[in-house]
Amino acid sequence: MTTTQNNRVLGKPVADKIMAEAGERAAQIIKQTGIAPCLATVLVGEDPSSHTYIRMKHNRCKQAGIESRHFHLDDSTTTEQLVAKITELGADELVHGILLQHPVPDQVDERAAFEVIPVSKDVDGVTYGSFARMWFDESGGFPSCTPAGIIGLLDACEVSLKGKRAVVIGRSPILGKPMAGLLLARHATVTICHSRTEDLPSVVREADLVVAAVGIPNFVKGDWLKPGCVVMDAGYNPGNVGDVDFESCAPVASLITPVPGGVGPMTLAVLMNQTTLAAAAQLNLSGI
Ligand code: NAP
Repeated sequence: MTTTQNNRVLGKPVADKIMAEAGERAAQIIKQTGIAPCLATVLVGEDPSSHTYIRMKHNRCKQAGIESRHFHLDDSTTTEQLVAKITELGADELVHGILLQHPVPDQVDERAAFEVIPVSKDVDGVTYGSFARMWFDESGGFPSCTPAGIIGLLDACEVSLKGKRAVVIGRSPILGKPMAGLLLARHATVTICHSRTEDLPSVVREADLVVAAVGIPNFVKGDWLKPGCVVMDAGYNPGNVGDVDFESCAPVASLITPVPGGVGPMTLAVLMNQTTLAAAAQLNLSGI
């Protein structure tokens, strides 16, 4: 598998391999139990990007041989109604993974809805229970998909993390914070930066690994980087632009993910993989 081209880290070959593994596991589960792994997605409202993301998720399920069910609730849905729907899916033995599409309308308490997803079915890694397991380095939960995908890319490129300085820019619950936890579990020395960090460029300059999860196009500049560092760009801004200024950073970094085609393809592959792992665990199939 070629995972790099010059110093560009290519997400697609790594994501394809994970998808193939998820597909094989799904086939094994069906063969052994007659039950297909199943992902249930819930979308509240009419956000056009959310509809696109849901479609992409269902297409990937199909590709991996995973059954998918979709529940679309209207804009006026209350927290109680959403909680009731997710609770019902949590109790359904034929549903192995549950994903609530973000964002939900303002009147809905998203956290209350997330927290009724059983940890065993939280394949998107959004619940407190999943986060705590990840942070405490314990099994039984799933990490958030994009950070897990970044770890997958680093592993595919055989980047050694032990003892290395990692700087994560961004502290969101789905990206920056879980990323920091996963890097810590790999024995990196981790610094988390955010909008109040003073003199960000000098902090970034200390890093052997920089993960950008900021949401500002072309934010990280080449002259902030230590020569030879590894740069992972989680950013996905309108117009397919990352959070890293690729032009100035690529000549300085030893490895760098482009946008598109770097971190992006990993997220859905990890989601599919985690759905099949959740199904295998719920169906008491070990070792597949
Ligand atoms: P978010 O919730 O908006 O968080 C952004 C983080 O960046 C916050 O912690 C914020 O700090 C920090 N930040 C903002 N301005 C900054 C500045 N000037 N200096 C330093 N830090 C700053 O965004 P997110 O959901 O984590 O997403 C981050 C990026 O990843 C976006 O481009 C998003 O599109 C992308 N993304 C990609 C995928 C994928 O599948 N590839 C999935 C999810 C997200 P404060 O906490 O202080 O506000």
